Amino acid sequence: MKPVVLVVIDGLTPSMFEAADTPAIRFLAEQGSYRRATSTFPSLTPVCLSSIATGAHPDVHEIPHLVWWHRGERRLVEYGSSFGAVRAAGIPRSRRDTIVDLNAKHLSRRAETIYEALEATGLTTGAINITCYRGPNRHLPTIPGVPPVYGPKRFFFYSLYESDRTGAPIAVRNRALGSIDAYAASVGRWLVTRDGFDFLVYYLPDYDFASHLTGPDSAHEALARSDAAIAALMDAAGGPEEFIERYAVIVCSDHGQSHVEQVARLDAGDDLVTASNRAGMVYTDDPRGVAERFDRQSAAGIVLFLEDGRVIARRDGDEDPSLLDTVPDGRARATAALRNPNAGEVLVSAAPGWEFADLAGRDHLGGGSHGSLEQADSEVPMLAVGLEEPPASITQIKETVLRNFGLFSPAPGGKEAV
Ligand SMILES: [Zn+2]
Repeated sequence: MKPVVLVVIDGLTPSMFEAADTPAIRFLAEQGSYRRATSTFPSLTPVCLSSIATGAHPDVHEIPHLVWWHRGERRLVEYGSSFGAVRAAGIPRSRRDTIVDLNAKHLSRRAETIYEALEATGLTTGAINITCYRGPNRHLPTIPGVPPVYGPKRFFFYSLYESDRTGAPIAVRNRALGSIDAYAASVGRWLVTRDGFDFLVYYLPDYDFASHLTGPDSAHEALARSDAAIAALMDAAGGPEEFIERYAVIVCSDHGQSHVEQVARLDAGDDLVTASNRAGMVYTDDPRGVAERFDRQSAAGIVLFLEDGRVIARRDGDEDPSLLDTVPDGRARATAALRNPNAGEVLVSAAPGWEFADLAGRDHLGGGSHGSLEQADSEVPMLAVGLEEPPASITQIKETVLRNFGLFSPAPGGKEAV
């Protein structure tokens, strides 16, 4: 069994992946098997990366959105919808939530991360820049005043935590020019040269950043830079052939993107709304009343709430569970999102073309966004090289990797569990 490299290109749509003519991606696509797979809901990065890392939907991992109401601490958690939203939520608080507490406090203990699962068997895991990283090894920060965190044995996070000295440049400056992916490439090259892991998550966020600005399927330069970051791993292995000789590889994204043509502020009267990108939540004692109010708001697409434990799906006054059959994996994703104890009582998937303004009123009008149940936001490319089958959902990546190491076993009672 080969070590596995999981490449996550944030926000890459299937159509962009399928049309890619960049050399590293083309080479891998020719060697592997490919399918379109499904994300989770809300299709927003902190939720999706937690699903990738834990192999579960938000009913298990409990990360509900980019922005949510913490019932226990009676405050907003904002993981970075926009700089304005972070400033509105308080910069130090938001940084701590995103960098430290997502993993240390918000990610449910009932969920097991892929790093925890593999390291428990003595394997070495690594993670570069992925925001869901919880693992068994304590890491000190590179700058004072930041708390230690627990992650994989090989752990690199935006220059802030570095388990090994690699000589990589500082990660954060000049994001528009792709410096974060360049940092990942530098660390990845170091790890591959030393064959320093059994499983590595190689997370490349710059594509999503570019695609929010340009709109989906047009961030070609950003994709070329993501491709160059993959090529850096291949070079370190001695070339593309040597790379796949040595490693099994998965290339995917965490969610898609769609065009933003109109923006609205989600209005739920006196109830608390947390909205960002193409998903919104309302914390309310009257879920049905709020859902009915959204019948008159064209920005609201499918609206979800629980009534007597049943999932209710509503759109423009129409109440019909089959609304969820019009979107990928709709019933399972809607149910899991609603059964997350940190979610609002009402969940809103934006209508096609619409985006919700965030805490600071920011949006991506004319560009790209994601978060909804709709196909454009919910479908991701999924390529597997040297593994049996590409996973059908981002929640099945963990299982695919565990199977590669012979660690996936059917649970008693016939139902398989990781
Ligand atoms: Zn995004």
